[in-house]
Amino acid sequence: MEFIYEGRHYPVILERKRVKNINLHIRTDGSIYVSAAPHVAEHVIQAFLEKNAARIAPASDRIREKRRGKVLHDGAVLPWLGQALTLRWAAKPCQTVRNGNVLTVFARTPEEAEYAFTQWRNAECLELFRQLNDETCAAFRQAGYQVPHARIEIKNMVSRWGSCTAQSGRISMNIRLIQYPVGSIRGVFFHEYTHFLHQDHSAAFYAVLRRMYPEYDRYDALLKMT
Ligand SMILES: [Zn+2]
Repeated sequence: MEFIYEGRHYPVILERKRVKNINLHIRTDGSIYVSAAPHVAEHVIQAFLEKNAARIAPASDRIREKRRGKVLHDGAVLPWLGQALTLRWAAKPCQTVRNGNVLTVFARTPEEAEYAFTQWRNAECLELFRQLNDETCAAFRQAGYQVPHARIEIKNMVSRWGSCTAQSGRISMNIRLIQYPVGSIRGVFFHEYTHFLHQDHSAAFYAVLRRMYPEYDRYDALLKMT
C-alpha cells in the first residue's frame, strides 16, 4: 500500500488486526505504519492516508533525512570488516572506489550516498561471502566430513548472524556481518556448516566446531547484536 504526496510515493506497511479505528504511526526509521481491522475496506484506508498526507509525509521525510544525514554524510565513518572506512562524497559522476580506508562515492545528497554505498556493499559482501563459503566447505570435506556445498543467501536479519537449513543445504548470512573482522564472519560460516552435522547446540556440535575452527570463541565474542 502507498500514497502520493507532492509527486512522491510513500510506501505504507499495513497490518490487519483487531483494532477499533484506523491507527497510524511513523516508526523510528521513518516508515509509515497503519493498523486497521480486517473488515475495513482498502479504499477507506486509502482515503484516510490521503487526508493525513500533508501531515505524515513531511514527518516521515524529516526522520529519514536525519537518519541518512547521520549515517552517510560526507566524512561519515563506517565500520567495515573490523576497521573504519571514511566516506567521501565526489560531486562528479564516478565509480565507487576504495583507497585504503577512504571510500569515495558519487553523491550530492545522503540518498545518493546511501544508494552508492549499498550497491558497493552488496557486491563486496557477495564476493567475500562466496569465497568464505567455498573455503569453509573445502575445510570440512578435507577433514572427512560429508557436507553439501551450501547455497548462501545474504539477508538483513534482526536477531541472528546466520541460519542453516540442513535439509535443503541452504545457509542464510546476515549482511551486517560485513562490519566485523573476517575471522568473525568465518566463524559464522563454520558454525552454520557444523549444523549440517549436528542440528542442535550440543557438546558434540561444539566439539566439531572448535576442532574445525579453534579461534571460534575469540571471534564469536566480537559479534554484538545491536
Ligand atoms: Zn547455531
